[in-house]
Amino acid sequence: MTAIQIENLNVWFGEGPDRNDAVKSVSCTVAEGESFGLVGESGSGKSTVLRAVTGLVPTWEGTIRINGKTLGRKRDREFYKTVQMVFQDPYASLHPRMTVDAVLSEVLQLHGFKDIDSRIDRLLRDVGLGAGFRFRYPHQLSGGQRQRVAIARALAPEPRILLLDEPTSALDVSVQAEILNLLTDLRAERGLTYVMVSHDLGVVGHMCGQIAVMQHGEVVEELGVANMRELKAEHAYTRHLLDSSLRSVR
Ligand code: ADP
Ligand code: MG
Repeated sequence: MTAIQIENLNVWFGEGPDRNDAVKSVSCTVAEGESFGLVGESGSGKSTVLRAVTGLVPTWEGTIRINGKTLGRKRDREFYKTVQMVFQDPYASLHPRMTVDAVLSEVLQLHGFKDIDSRIDRLLRDVGLGAGFRFRYPHQLSGGQRQRVAIARALAPEPRILLLDEPTSALDVSVQAEILNLLTDLRAERGLTYVMVSHDLGVVGHMCGQIAVMQHGEVVEELGVANMRELKAEHAYTRHLLDSSLRSVR
């Protein structure tokens, strides 16, 4: 089954002479259970694609289907029960005055779960944080621990699809691999579908089976990770990206 199908997605910001076409005619298909990478330099439109899917951009056109169902303008609770997003910066995405318990309780209640206590315990365990973290505030957590909380919050509604926007690029290099390994394990255990945005081909080569390369708002090439490893990229821009990150890919 197809988890995500995007057809001719256009997203723009501003009007008239100020108009910025951030995403231009992007189409891609992500199969259920696949880990799909979206790579490209900063400003190429990667985050905007994810934000269009989750309903966070005001002006867009095109077709977005989730599990075969075409999305309208509004995202309802059912959508967020299926699709969750993890943002780049766990410092910004967690409210400074909410404990881990409050963050997770809020989302669990929103989605109508009753066994909140046991779910919080299990979520914390699932992301490698013990019960001792439950009543901490974000400032009492390291960057990696915060991102684990953000991942727990995303997992709370039991989604089938995670949109991961550079989930490790705000973290120290030493904890990046831990978070990537956690995400890999979670996907394997739960059969989740991932779309992972990264400017780092090493990360995407490690995590993803299929990769779309974006440049100036367009997908310029789509290739399998095997071809990427063998440097069988057709498009000059993709080859340029590969050349400049050869060491991390191999
Ligand atoms: P990437 O994630 O690949 O770094 P983005 O999707 O964040 O790129 O940005 C793509 C383009 O859209 C950039 O030109 C950026 O300046 C613009 N853009 C993104 N978000 C906004 C916004 N909220 N308002 C105006 N312009 C935006
Ligand atoms: Mg981005």
